[in-house]
Amino acid sequence: MKIDVLTLFPEMFTGVFGSSILGKAAAKGIVELHAVNFRTYSTSKHGTVDDTPYGGGGGMVLKPDPIFAAVEDLLSSPKSDLSEQSAEAEAGVKPRIILMCPQGETFTQQKAEELSREQHLIFICGHYEGYDERIREHLVTDELSIGDYVLTGGELPAMTVVDSVVRLLPGVLGNETSAVTDSFSTGLLEYPHYTRPAEFRGMKVPDVLLSGHHANVEKWRREQSLLRTWERRPDLLEQADLTDKERQWLKSKDSERKGN
Ligand code: SAM
Repeated sequence: MKIDVLTLFPEMFTGVFGSSILGKAAAKGIVELHAVNFRTYSTSKHGTVDDTPYGGGGGMVLKPDPIFAAVEDLLSSPKSDLSEQSAEAEAGVKPRIILMCPQGETFTQQKAEELSREQHLIFICGHYEGYDERIREHLVTDELSIGDYVLTGGELPAMTVVDSVVRLLPGVLGNETSAVTDSFSTGLLEYPHYTRPAEFRGMKVPDVLLSGHHANVEKWRREQSLLRTWERRPDLLEQADLTDKERQWLKSKDSERKGN
């Protein structure tokens, strides 16, 4: 996968793209990560990328021309790697062009899974008051928000999305099953974890986990996952893939709770 991030602050990505699991994924060649300063696409003498809003009001608005030019360059420029660009076009790869924006679709694990099946992602990070609306209307394929709050820029949101997408790529996580049982991947929250010592300050690890009985451990984990979701995120249960028996069991929990 290739990931390009258009930003006015590419230096913010150095640590995140070069460290830990993302850094290793890039070193292994599983993903190519680039932070591109779209100021370099400004045609003005001073590298201007924003301007005051038509109609008045506060804040600066990101101009369309540098951002269109940067995306078009990434899509078709023979500047750096002609063979790679042509191969992409020939293979019919259509990059997803993703605007980071608090007004966008809320990012979820399902969206991370969907994006992890793409070959090329381009992220656009805003700053200041907002974007010229023509970027939203005529350039991007997706608008993503990481939640109902407003940050100063799209860099942290883009890092969040890139991190959650890259960890899903085959070969990135050491233990392939760990992404499969993660919270939300199964439609439920993940079960609790314990490690050594078996007893710490009088607090004991559940016996079943020490039993070595694989089927009982799996059963306990499934029940814990269901219980935890029922307690913390009952909204997830409506869409989750549960057996009739599991639904009955949770119904009995609901009745118990109401009875108390
Ligand atoms: N005036 C805009 C509004 O009310 O929708 C907010 C602009 S915000 C200060 C500047 C930039 O930060 C946005 O263009 C976007 O790129 C990024 N941003 C802020 N909050 C975000 C969020 N929750 N999710 C994704 N991007 C966000």
